[in-house]
Amino acid sequence: MTLPREKMLIDGAWVDGGAGWRASLDPATNEPIADVASASPEDAARAVAAAKRALADAAWRRMDPSDRGRLVARLAALLRRDLDDVARTESLDNGKTLREAKGDASFAAWTLEYFAGLADKVEGAVIPVPGNRLNYTRREPLGVTVHIVPWNYPLQLGVRSIAPALAAGNTVIVKPASETPLSMLRFAKLVEEAGFPKGVFNVVTGSGAVVGPALAGHPDVDGVVLTGSVPTGQEVLKAAARNVTPVTLELGGKSPNVVFADADIEKAAKGAAFGIFMNAGQMCWAGSRLLVHESVHDALVEKLVAFARTWKIGPGLEKDSRLGPLVSKDHLAKVMGYVDVGAREGATLTMGGRRPQAPALAHGNFLEPTVFTDVAPKMRIAQEEIFGPVLSVIKFGSDDEALAIANDVEFGLYAGVWTKDLSRAHRFAAELEAGMVSVNEYPVTFPQSPFGGFKASGIGSEQGLTAMHFYTRQKSVILNLG
Ligand code: NAD
Repeated sequence: MTLPREKMLIDGAWVDGGAGWRASLDPATNEPIADVASASPEDAARAVAAAKRALADAAWRRMDPSDRGRLVARLAALLRRDLDDVARTESLDNGKTLREAKGDASFAAWTLEYFAGLADKVEGAVIPVPGNRLNYTRREPLGVTVHIVPWNYPLQLGVRSIAPALAAGNTVIVKPASETPLSMLRFAKLVEEAGFPKGVFNVVTGSGAVVGPALAGHPDVDGVVLTGSVPTGQEVLKAAARNVTPVTLELGGKSPNVVFADADIEKAAKGAAFGIFMNAGQMCWAGSRLLVHESVHDALVEKLVAFARTWKIGPGLEKDSRLGPLVSKDHLAKVMGYVDVGAREGATLTMGGRRPQAPALAHGNFLEPTVFTDVAPKMRIAQEEIFGPVLSVIKFGSDDEALAIANDVEFGLYAGVWTKDLSRAHRFAAELEAGMVSVNEYPVTFPQSPFGGFKASGIGSEQGLTAMHFYTRQKSVILNLG
């Protein structure tokens, strides 16, 4: 069978890659679905040159910000028009359920709509200074921006940074994860159709280890956004340091979801299940540590397990599937390795931990929803990011103990609190070491809400008004008026 060949977009042209082709696999079967161009470092350099030329070209540089906003809004409308098709591509390539993929594509369109509206609202300030002088500031586009995207939300996390970058007048080079390039390539066709000038938006596909450093370390790149793992974040920082290039890093998590005795246990059990089993647990903000007050522990775990048993495991595109496969065989092996670690460390395997037995699922990367109880805070399964449907449940006795456990990890991305006590909710919101906290739901975000982590979870933040700061640079102008 000949597979469809997917080229990459550089300087307005669909081109082959200098490193050949790489098959993209369906995680539900591990069958190839497309051959995708694999870029060489030279391809990456050509994309940077194209983005630099497009930045200097009056067609983009002088475009009225309101017109730029209209272009981004048109792109949002095109994405909504093709949402079902884009979501099917995403589901097939990544494994996530169609329902999740549609939700992601819709969130991506919403993000474009939000930032489209900001394109002509990037304002400077007038500063009172001594003498007869006028001091004002301008916010100008940052320049050539590189967006390195992970495989867990290939479209949505790409668009999360592409939208403000385009709205602010930058040019863009996207590097999708090598496992899941198809939805971004499909999105690139919509960018073309929307009518962005050539070279403003480029997609370079291929190996992260080859293309990533070539982009992040290029002297003509003005900003790098990576969403990915901590080790990759460290590599990107090193590469960017060579040219003192600013970076935004959105990295991993080991987020605590803290349930107090006064919580609505029914809701908390469902929220905890969504927080770890959605997207097959492959979420940076997964609530992978469930901290439960000892008085409600057994009731909560019972409800959570009963709810998780109703989640049908199956291929993302199959109707009623609730839990899709993990992205790849390698990743499944890594996650199953943690199931062994948990058992060896002495935690109790209360649910799952195996591949499902149904013959139809035998060739895919499926794993049952897995729950460990009797987890001690220092166990590896309570400290390391597993990035799969594996929950570690930890008991606590007091508020102070809960807070100490919650904060005792290297990450600080997200945290959940379940309580009816307002003062406790605010105390935890203030004292949790996390860039985001949600109370009585898990997880939740909006294009308007800042998204970013503390500690090893990253640098900077995406979404919301403040995201525009990264994609613009401030200039101070002082005029002596005599
Ligand atoms: P990864 O770090 O392996 O890959 C991320 C991207 O970096 C891919 O496009 C990859 O090809 C590229 N890459 C690989 N090596 C590189 C290098 N040396 N230089 C530059 N780029 C390189 O991450 P992943 O496995 O795709 O995604 C999972 C990780 O992403 C998890 O740790 C997860 O927590 C994190 N994540 C964070 C957020 C967030 O918003 N904080 C969101 C989603 C995922």
